[in-house]
Amino acid sequence: MHTEIETKCVRDGWNPKSGEPRQLPIIQSTTFPYATSDDMGKLFDLEAEGYFYTRLQNPTNDAVAAKICALEGGAAAMLTSSGQAANFYAVFNICENGGHFIASSSIYGGTYNLFGVTMKKMGIECTFVDQTLPLEELEKYIKPNTKCIFGETITNPTVNVLDFEKFAALAHSHGLPLIVDNTFATPINCRPFEYGADIVTHSTTKYMDGHGVSVGGCIVDSGNFDFAAHADKFPGLTTPDDSYHGITYTEKFGKGAYITKATAQLMRDFGSIQSPQNAFYINLGLESLHIRMQRHCENALAVARYLKENEKVAWVHYPDLEDDENHVLAQKYLKNGSCGVLAFALKGGREKSIKFMDSLHFASIATHVADSKTCLLHPASHTHRQLTEEQLAEAGIPADLIRLSVGIENAKDIIADIEQALNNI
Ligand SMILES: *Cc1c(COP(=O)(O)O)cnc(C)c1O
Repeated sequence: MHTEIETKCVRDGWNPKSGEPRQLPIIQSTTFPYATSDDMGKLFDLEAEGYFYTRLQNPTNDAVAAKICALEGGAAAMLTSSGQAANFYAVFNICENGGHFIASSSIYGGTYNLFGVTMKKMGIECTFVDQTLPLEELEKYIKPNTKCIFGETITNPTVNVLDFEKFAALAHSHGLPLIVDNTFATPINCRPFEYGADIVTHSTTKYMDGHGVSVGGCIVDSGNFDFAAHADKFPGLTTPDDSYHGITYTEKFGKGAYITKATAQLMRDFGSIQSPQNAFYINLGLESLHIRMQRHCENALAVARYLKENEKVAWVHYPDLEDDENHVLAQKYLKNGSCGVLAFALKGGREKSIKFMDSLHFASIATHVADSKTCLLHPASHTHRQLTEEQLAEAGIPADLIRLSVGIENAKDIIADIEQALNNI
């Protein structure tokens, strides 16, 4: 449809026909009635397409999923109630009881817990790996029952950049799909399918919403991974589903197989749906995503440079800094800039960090990142406090790390606030 990403942000998804609402309508209805019993029956057999109950699909949600799908360059997509639900469904759709998968140890704390603790109780084993290891080392973790590889484009909160080429090689040489959480980069700054990822997930709660008003998630499938070619590994997609009169997803839905299964089975049974009202907010956020990402990156770079020069600052990590350890990867995969999040630490440890955070005027302490207002967090005492010292070290999260999410205020004001707080310690 539209070739340029900025136009897709504004125009894709909802395409009103003559006389229809120009803005995306919020279809606030649980149900969709049909004239005949036969019409309805076909929907339940997945023989016909159509809406019948919002737990499975809703037109507002589908329009927003279609926009995100277009932004990522995917084949099919679905919204979920949260980023957590998106990551759970993305893996569980192909990795069940008895299965194993590999994830980078630097991923978001909530996902780490989901994979390492909760999914373990379901009989699914996750091996966390240091994502900087060479390919030969990473390959040693692959097992006969491994089903997928998982990473984040830019890790939260350590802002490390995924080496797509290495991870795609790891996955594809073993007949496995690569799943990438693209929350921090957004499709404005990185489209993981262009670098070999097969499935992308998002916490739309972050930049996509962009204003901190609604929790949500999204899964996009590129349609590129050939599940049928590795049929023995993915029986859920390649053998008949008894709960739908024996249809086989890969045969019936082709490139839509993965998302259709996630909708028809997981959404049906777990029900982590997005609300149409929240989908509407996500859509508003998406319309300005391209402009906001640019400003987030400009501001974050200005703040990173300022912090780097300040003698009270111990270290700064931001992939767009020329001397950052991730800069080479950022130049390769994040040509337009990375994101608005950076990590840094103050000299003098925890005590000084807390004094600093408490001295800020408008940069607030919030368990959030990636919205218009600058905020910050100390993972070791907030988001990651459930991790042991060992797990913190394994996830590469220094106890002194402060995660700063730079907003789209004027950079001068953001730096002035940081400066007065630094002067106060
Ligand atoms: C926030 C976040 C999640 C979880 O998303 P929710 O919408 O809070 O459930 C997953 N991955 C990353 C990278 C995140 O930043």
